[in-house]
Amino acid sequence: MDVTRTDTGGGVPNPDDEVDVAVVGGGIAGLTAAHRLREEGRHPVVFEAEDAVGGRMRARRVDGWTVEEGTETLATAGYPATWRLVREVGLDSDGQVLKVRSLSGVWRDGRAHAGTGHWVGALTGAGLSLGGRMALARLVASLLRSAGRFDTRRPGESPLGTRTVADLAAGRHRELLDYVLQPAVSTGWGWDPERSCVAPLVATMIATRGLLGWRTYRDGMDALARRMAERLDVRCGRPVVEVKESGSGVRLGFADGTALTARAVVLAVPSPLARALYPGAPPHEERFLRAATYAPMIRVTCPVDRPLSAPQRRGTPRTYALLVPDSEDGYISGLTFEHLKARNRAPDGHGLVSVLTSPRATRELLHLTDEEITGAVLPRAERYAPGLGAALRGASVHRHPHAAPEATPEALRLHSAFLDRQAGGVEYAGDWVFQRPTSEAAVQSGELAARRLLTGVLRG
Ligand SMILES: Cc1cc2nc3c(=O)[nH]c(=O)nc-3n(C[C@H](O)[C@H](O)[C@H](O)COP(=O)(O)OP(=O)(O)OC[C@H]3O[C@@H](n4cnc5c(N)ncnc54)[C@H](O)[C@@H]3O)c2cc1C
Repeated sequence: MDVTRTDTGGGVPNPDDEVDVAVVGGGIAGLTAAHRLREEGRHPVVFEAEDAVGGRMRARRVDGWTVEEGTETLATAGYPATWRLVREVGLDSDGQVLKVRSLSGVWRDGRAHAGTGHWVGALTGAGLSLGGRMALARLVASLLRSAGRFDTRRPGESPLGTRTVADLAAGRHRELLDYVLQPAVSTGWGWDPERSCVAPLVATMIATRGLLGWRTYRDGMDALARRMAERLDVRCGRPVVEVKESGSGVRLGFADGTALTARAVVLAVPSPLARALYPGAPPHEERFLRAATYAPMIRVTCPVDRPLSAPQRRGTPRTYALLVPDSEDGYISGLTFEHLKARNRAPDGHGLVSVLTSPRATRELLHLTDEEITGAVLPRAERYAPGLGAALRGASVHRHPHAAPEATPEALRLHSAFLDRQAGGVEYAGDWVFQRPTSEAAVQSGELAARRLLTGVLRG
């Protein structure tokens, strides 16, 4: 099917229609749930509010540029559920997944220092002083001693429990917070180190072996979602407004006033949206839904007429993902030089630069117009991408009010009980189910939702 166009024609169910399983949300979590259900002979229908699938993994192709709206990369290690899907839909052949050949780096004292989270950082220092490097080595060694006790699916049960990012840094060398932990969580995940638990970060870094071996889909980060959707019954442009259990199943109400009944439902939307759609959730589910808050993020992407890069010391490896610590800026949290991530993101001789705002700036900017946001952000970004203003061919603003599950202490305290609850007719999928802001967590949650339905209400 053509998933890029709104389907409001004959495929839309009549008010009295019934479906086997309705999946609400065509992000990677919902598509995974539908894929696994279909594999077991069920007939899932995915209802997506937007005009295309992918959610936070969407990409747009405009005049030769591939503009990623959310997700940037996937890891070689630590993404087993994703790689299973990649192989199943045949994306693993013909160079459809590219190696990212440049590195992440941190901004300090007027330039980028490559090697953050990578073994190269042990040689370059990745912006840390000798004292900072020794403190980081000690911290990593102590965490690796208990590496076997970190489960990415249950980060709160690790030895770090519900300690926040700031708690882990307290009493250690100041650079660990300022140049490692704060930029790591704020740039990539939009987190406030005082609010979010550190266990999901540590569990993810152990699983992915740091920032080693990262990859990107050749045709944009929505490639997997698009490929999966081709094999599924997906209805785009179908926002769901209400989910309600009824005697004969679960009733879904749509924005256009139509409704249908499903035998079971997978709510594959961020937890605050799931909570609003399904006010009748049982109290123990509702408690976790309420605690499972999200951090917002804004990305401004800029096609440019030359391949810009961050200032760096000559001879050091190139930085494609630049983390900008709060102690150096406080307004911009990072930039991605997309053409250094994958050359085909921009036409030959051109570039694509994206800018992320800090958690504080995001909250200030989220409700402003695109012009106000670009006016506030781009002049500040010039420092990290010299020549940006002159090379600019345009700018697009991507607002993510629900960008990353925050993994607060309260959410992690309630997490295990939520995972261990009895299966029901309304199941949930989304990265928040595992309290990690990664596409792998979203895929895992889709698999879990399908499994819970197949062994629960759909059994027999
Ligand atoms: C800026 C940014 C960068 C990121 N970078 C990375 C990265 O490099 N690597 C990585 O692994 N992860 C990254 N992530 C995280 C990753 O994108 C997410 O974890 C993942 O895409 C979440 O998928 P999901 O299916 O759970 O949710 P979503 O992608 O949010 O999907 C939910 C879907 O539900 C739809 N929907 C919402 N409401 C309704 C409704 N009422 N009716 C019907 N449909 C509805 C939405 O339109 C959406 O398509 C990044 C995220 C952001 C925001």
